[in-house]
Amino acid sequence: MTNNVNEKVVIICAPSGSGKTSIVKYLLDSGLPLALSVSATSRTKRAQETDGKDYYFISADEFRKRVANGEFLEWQEVYAGQYYGTLLSELTRIWEAGNAVIFDVDVLGGLNIKKHFGDNALSIFVKPPTLECLRQRLLGRGTETEETLKKRLDKSEYELSFENKFDKVVLNDTLSVAQKEAYNLIAGFLKQ
Ligand code: ADP
Ligand code: 5GP
Repeated sequence: MTNNVNEKVVIICAPSGSGKTSIVKYLLDSGLPLALSVSATSRTKRAQETDGKDYYFISADEFRKRVANGEFLEWQEVYAGQYYGTLLSELTRIWEAGNAVIFDVDVLGGLNIKKHFGDNALSIFVKPPTLECLRQRLLGRGTETEETLKKRLDKSEYELSFENKFDKVVLNDTLSVAQKEAYNLIAGFLKQ
């Protein structure tokens, strides 16, 4: 398959707990010419995360300094006091290596990136079957306190209202089905 990855980007958005990370990990191991844009964040690192691979973990002060320096394509205060942003340096790093960029960002960040890249971007919204299911998955992941769980679920309800602003919607009921559906959509997009 000849892929035309030059300047192409794939955006994956979903309420927290929908299975976005599980789908992105599958896509990165799938053989498609994709590499993840590693975001910078001021949130605390989780036990299983690696600095420079999952995120660039920096302080809120450092984050604000880099915003002032114009180093970000986009950034959001996704949760109060927790900043997340896409570094412009990630785009050149990935394109120069011959890959398309895949973004795992929140809904507002994703819509901004789509606006920026237009037809060179494919935006995919990953949808959970129900909000209750989302709650169960977040509980099952074991990464949240009662407070952060509530924060995430409140934001999820808001984010679910943006579904129709995306190019494609993938329902994540059975994970393997959702993973293959996302794969097929992206393979088609990269062939164009
Ligand atoms: P996100 O990146 O959207 O926050 P994750 O990929 O971390 O979501 O998934 C949240 C939790 O739900 C994880 O524990 C994951 O293993 C689980 N999960 C993901 N997809 C499914 C699915 N289709 N059915 C059941 N559990 C799932
Ligand atoms: P988490 O804390 O679960 O890793 O991420 C929380 C939310 O921040 C997720 O919706 C994730 O997609 C989003 N996010 C991660 N990186 C970025 C980024 O660079 N920009 C924006 N706008 N959101 C991001």
